[in-house]
Amino acid sequence: MGFIDKFKELRRQVSEVENNIYNERRDYLEIYERNLQLEKEIAERTSELNDANRRILTLQHIWDMMNSSTPLENVLEAIVNSTQGELGYMHCAIIRKNQDADGEYCRIIAQSSDNLIDRLNHIVGSPAIQTRRLNYDHDSIFSDTLKQKKIIQTRSLDLSLKAILPELSKETIAEILTNQPIKSVIVIPLLPREKEFGWFCVFSSRDELALTETDFLSLFAKQIEMAITIADLFQAVKKEAVTDALTGLYNRRYFEEALEKEVARAKRNNQHFSIVGIDLDFLKKINDTYGHSYGDLAITTIANILKSNARSIDVPARIGGEEFDVLLPGVSTEGAAAAAERIRKAIESTEIETIGHITGSLGVATYLVHTNNVEELLELTDQAMYASKRNGRNQVTIAKPISETSWQEVAVNTFIDILSKNRVPMAQNLSKDLCLKLKNSADKGEMKQEALYMVSDMLTKLYNPMHEEGVVKSKVLMAVNLAKRFELPKEEVDNLRVAVLLYDIGNLMISPGLLQKATPLTDEEREKIKNHPIIAAQKILKPISYIQDVLPIIEYHHENWDGSGYPSNKSKEEIPITSQIILIIDEYFALIEARPYRAKMSVRDAIEIIKSDSGKKWNDTLVNEFISLIGHDIV
Ligand code: GH3
Ligand code: MG
Repeated sequence: MGFIDKFKELRRQVSEVENNIYNERRDYLEIYERNLQLEKEIAERTSELNDANRRILTLQHIWDMMNSSTPLENVLEAIVNSTQGELGYMHCAIIRKNQDADGEYCRIIAQSSDNLIDRLNHIVGSPAIQTRRLNYDHDSIFSDTLKQKKIIQTRSLDLSLKAILPELSKETIAEILTNQPIKSVIVIPLLPREKEFGWFCVFSSRDELALTETDFLSLFAKQIEMAITIADLFQAVKKEAVTDALTGLYNRRYFEEALEKEVARAKRNNQHFSIVGIDLDFLKKINDTYGHSYGDLAITTIANILKSNARSIDVPARIGGEEFDVLLPGVSTEGAAAAAERIRKAIESTEIETIGHITGSLGVATYLVHTNNVEELLELTDQAMYASKRNGRNQVTIAKPISETSWQEVAVNTFIDILSKNRVPMAQNLSKDLCLKLKNSADKGEMKQEALYMVSDMLTKLYNPMHEEGVVKSKVLMAVNLAKRFELPKEEVDNLRVAVLLYDIGNLMISPGLLQKATPLTDEEREKIKNHPIIAAQKILKPISYIQDVLPIIEYHHENWDGSGYPSNKSKEEIPITSQIILIIDEYFALIEARPYRAKMSVRDAIEIIKSDSGKKWNDTLVNEFISLIGHDIV
């Protein structure tokens, strides 16, 4: 091969290499470009995934809150803050549409905390936007979204602001909108269960909404609607369980729970609270004259007065048919008396169709002032209320501290309680009649005592037809004289007086045939009769909180000195001296009265029998004191 050929060959080879290099470079560039493109796509997909993930997490968080017992305000607060913070909007708010006597209006119920709201408040001044009553414009983006049931995005920020705050001047609105990055507002209607609740508002720094964003915001709005529905249902169920159907006041159960909490708080902080008890006067007469529905109307009228007089922390409750209690946390007796007087006046001055005017009797008692015991507090409120009834109705009575309550009042209230609550079986007419006698008994001194003796005599006659009138009085006087010989303190003597009036009341629960039986009793029958102190103390009297100190006296009034008595076989000093006093007096009067199974005994014979039981039923000291007392009487 010549030189030329060699050269040509070389050039060809060089050109081939050049070609190869060029081709490879082109391939390389292509691959490089393709890679760049791919990377970009991966970045985009990753960002979308991240967005989706954030939205899912936010939704998940809200869903978790909805499933817990978090209050609605907190759920809504979390929603707006996550929308603004985690999802990158400028501001976010939930606005509620309301209605009252002055018409429709709007109120912000949740909003994200960000610079925008601070700036807005600074410019518009006081009151802050979130506390204002906002306008509802029937021709605005807000009404449009509700009518069309769809999301609307607008760049007319000024019109949206003007719709809810028409009082702002053009200049103020311009000031609000300059130098801030918001480009559009997105208003999403909230229509839980097709009801116009309000709006979910999102402020964006972008002009346009992406389609996925619209979908996502709708999903978010659905979530808000669901939270509202759940909260509504929860609220309804809760309300039903704690309110009274006729009046909408709290029911007894709720009142008792609230009372328990208040007692704990009062103990912790050494802070008073008061109770006002209210009983509608003459409801029976209203029912009888105008019919039951008017009786109901009178009850709801009082309920409405209690509601409108209550502060948000008060607990006005319907305790029974026509009985109401209001719990007033942190209120002293004076404050509660003033509140009760306001209620009394409001009841008296309200005109009810057909019925005209009604009245109520009220009682007031204060925890830690009148008593430290909550049952006693309720009893005292009740007693004060009854005192209002006795003194002519339509008035307020303040409770007397438990230590100042006289034994007569304790006894009167106990009998009224037993009779009015049917704690013993007896004819309705008689219990009403006796109740009336007690309620009408003059408030002071002898008269009240006479009424008590008379009622106790009448009740005793029910199970013992041979019982003579006046005997109860003699027994009380004798018991008091004996107690004085043992130098018992005044409180003990007072408890003894009440015990003498009540100690045999358990006999009313035993069948009359058995008590009057002339033939000897079987063991079983004897057991039944022996039960009466227990029945009296445990069944009839125990629920009456303010006579708890009287109960042991009654329960042990058949225990014997030597331990052979009943029901607990107590002996000697284990037995209260007051119980022993009742035992000896009871025996004495039983002996000098006739019984179906034996004739009346002389005083002298009775004393002989009592003496013979010395060391068995009672000790010598008691017998001697007793005989000396009777001796004085019979000489
Ligand atoms: P006082 O002034 O002594 O309270 O007399 P009163 O008639 O209001 O009281 P009393 O206790 O003698 O009678 C209460 C009546 O209230 C008897 C009962 O039938 C009636 N009552 C209880 N609950 C309701 C209710 O829900 N609706 C109606 N209409 N009457 C009720
Ligand atoms: Mg009444």
